[in-house]
Amino acid sequence: MTDGPATDTDRHVRIYEVGPRDGLQNEATEVPTAAKVRFVELLVAAGLREIEATSFVSPRSIPQLADADELLPALPDVTGVRYPVLVPNLRGLARAEAAGAEALAVFTATTDAFTEHNIGMSVADSLDAFAPVLERAGDLGWWRRAYVSTAFGCPYTGRVDPAHALELAVELFDLGADEVCFGDTIGVGVPDQVADLTRRAVEAGLHLDRLAFHFHDTRGTALANVSAALAAGIRCFDASTGGTGGCPYAPGAAGNLATEDLVYLLDAEGWQHGVKLDRVLEAARFVASTLGRPLASKVGQAGGWDPASGGATGLA
Ligand code: MG
Repeated sequence: MTDGPATDTDRHVRIYEVGPRDGLQNEATEVPTAAKVRFVELLVAAGLREIEATSFVSPRSIPQLADADELLPALPDVTGVRYPVLVPNLRGLARAEAAGAEALAVFTATTDAFTEHNIGMSVADSLDAFAPVLERAGDLGWWRRAYVSTAFGCPYTGRVDPAHALELAVELFDLGADEVCFGDTIGVGVPDQVADLTRRAVEAGLHLDRLAFHFHDTRGTALANVSAALAAGIRCFDASTGGTGGCPYAPGAAGNLATEDLVYLLDAEGWQHGVKLDRVLEAARFVASTLGRPLASKVGQAGGWDPASGGATGLA
């Protein structure tokens, strides 16, 4: 996955790109299918190997992703690149299968209040709905991810008990998930909480290489949380190129951690991940121009940095 010096697995980090799905679904501007394909081509060219591409939910519920059936088969077929798709139920799974999917993600959260608002069912009902989806996907040999959203806080009920987030992760693994991703949906988590949740996961017997974090930069804590998670042994992080996907519960605020901001940190600390910052910035500029607004990310504005010359890098 990485080119470059001898691989030290402990210094290897997976960057799970969510821009085409989680990023675009929260954007108001409708993006043509061809532009989404171009965006993904640029992401692949940047070295990203796990790109959550779209969602097979009802086209009415997320119009921005209503072209899933046409988009997925149009994406570049590159060895080693995985395009997980969000699937809420067996109907979505059948559509995803017809479109050529080989990896999926299911999406629940820690509180009934959030899942009722977000997917129209309780947490328990969501697990019941996912059980046959995960089972069928397993029969098909697909890679399966499960999200535990609102892992640290819920916009309707407040603070979340980490033990409860962990219980859900255990249940999702029992249902067949290959990976569980804890999502800080409203961006309220801080590093101590990340370290605490990770420690509890280890105590519960979960494998750190099957856990991921999805941080939002809503309150400026995303990269600090990444650092805490790295120190605790987590090696997979979600990010959205261009920082797309503002916080749906705080209009105008930052949402997803930007891939370019994550890549800058990982590069500067010597982590191996196979993603080239200047190429991510190219993809970020493409998506920003498609959406008709300036880049929101820090590194999108400042560029990378060349320690040899002191100058910024990767700017257009
Ligand atoms: Mg997100």
